[in-house]
Amino acid sequence: MDIQKRLFEEWEKACAQFRSSFEEAGIARVPVPDLEVSGKKVRKMGICYYPGGKYRNGCVQVFAYVVSAWNEEEMLNTIKHEIAHLISYYFGSKGHDKIWKNVFIALGGSGNRFASSKALHPDEMRSYKIRKILYKCNCMSHEITIRTHNKIKKGFKYQCRVCGGKISEVVDPDRIMC
Ligand SMILES: [Zn+2]
Ligand SMILES: [Zn+2]
Repeated sequence: MDIQKRLFEEWEKACAQFRSSFEEAGIARVPVPDLEVSGKKVRKMGICYYPGGKYRNGCVQVFAYVVSAWNEEEMLNTIKHEIAHLISYYFGSKGHDKIWKNVFIALGGSGNRFASSKALHPDEMRSYKIRKILYKCNCMSHEITIRTHNKIKKGFKYQCRVCGGKISEVVDPDRIMC
């Protein structure tokens, strides 16, 4: 599967699907976001950046190891998950709220905030567990080094640079957030 191509196709499909909703909301044109396949090694499936800052039109990224065709269905679900973030953003959504969920389902996604642990190859799962600790805020998951994790335990304040929220440790590390 050509992931880059798929990202564009799914984005176009989503925009067409929500065209009348955008019109009703008075949004004439939704700019095409950056659609990227990232080679970064982070313990998540995908990420969405809202417009502004580094990405003027927003950005949807999926991570390369997800794209290794280990689980095509989960990968497609991830693409829909992240695109749903950007679409619902234009309707006032932040993070994994009800608006996002409805859009995600409308796009044919699972509606679940977390991907199945089967989405990652077992080898990948193992390697990520050792080095990093999974935290989350209101909008995404965060890869925290052991060093930072220890600092947080001692009272260091770590804020998400996207939503500004506090992050907290994910108790069940087998569940991956997108
Ligand atoms: Zn956040
Ligand atoms: Zn998400």
